[in-house]
Amino acid sequence: LAKRKSRNTYHWYTDDITETMNERVAMRRELHDALAAEQFTLHYQPIVDAHSGEVDGFEALIRWHHPERGLVPPVTFIPLAEQTGQITPIGEWVMRRACHDIVALNRAHGTSHSIAVNISPVQFHGRNFLGSLLEVLEETNLSPHLLKIELTEGVLMENTDAAIDILRTLRHMGVDVFIDDFGTGFSSLSYLKNLPINKVKIDRTFTREITTNAHDAAIAQGIITMAHHLGLEVVAEGIETIEQHEFLRARGCDLFQGYLFARPMPLSQVSGFLDGQAIAASRSAGRPQA
Ligand code: C2E
Ligand code: MG
Ligand code: MG
Ligand code: MG
Repeated sequence: LAKRKSRNTYHWYTDDITETMNERVAMRRELHDALAAEQFTLHYQPIVDAHSGEVDGFEALIRWHHPERGLVPPVTFIPLAEQTGQITPIGEWVMRRACHDIVALNRAHGTSHSIAVNISPVQFHGRNFLGSLLEVLEETNLSPHLLKIELTEGVLMENTDAAIDILRTLRHMGVDVFIDDFGTGFSSLSYLKNLPINKVKIDRTFTREITTNAHDAAIAQGIITMAHHLGLEVVAEGIETIEQHEFLRARGCDLFQGYLFARPMPLSQVSGFLDGQAIAASRSAGRPQA
């Protein structure tokens, strides 16, 4: 019985792997047409200023509405798009769409919110990254000071000289550069001090257990303290509870992002969200100070 059982398990397991592999092959092919078929959209998640409590800007997060598979999350298709090189045209589309949207929102609301765009290492190291970025800025008339680029640590590990040149150009233009998911890779803050970046985003895996796991609390505290000494601003992502928010605010975190404030939302909901914020702000401004 044991033998049969293990054989069954084995069969089930290979079938599962084969299916996953077939699925990846199919998805790679489908990704190829997804852009032209307009199957991508962006969701926007607010980033909140710790000091004023107001919305500083939004992070653009891509979504793939697959006609049969439904909503495919970026963690599934971004790696596939990186393998095929499709990430470059997809990433350029994200940049253009996000910049257009934030300009339209700011115009409609009389605001100057920033937009943060995630850039894949493949796109960053590609031939025309800066060129296409400049094109979008010119086309949309977005102030470079309102554009933020989110890069993961991996980007800076490979091809470092070329990467530093691009970062320097971005910084001269006034574009902010974040290191996203900080703490999950292998780079250290002492390494960051030589890079022309100006913000780090503490990864969600630390935020998650910050109030229950002493090690995660210590790491987060260490990142904030050292980042500030190096003149870097600190964003915390994945804030879900009031306790996490209080903990990080008490330790000087500069910006917050997470479900506690708002989930990523389609553009159609952002205006309503901003109107709600404006009403809340005018109410609290009108309230007598205790
Ligand atoms: P990321 O850049 O670290 O984005 C943050 C992720 O955390 C997003 O997942 C967001 O929806 C999620 N999140 C935000 N607040 C909370 C929270 O309070 N709790 C929890 N549990 N999750 C939260 P999403 O949208 O699925 O994106 C996953 C990753 O895919 C992103 O991680 C980013 O690395 C990548 N990605 C998304 N959009 C793009 C894009 O346009 N281009 C590239 N190259 N990568 C993208
Ligand atoms: Mg990000
Ligand atoms: Mg992140
Ligand atoms: Mg993350």
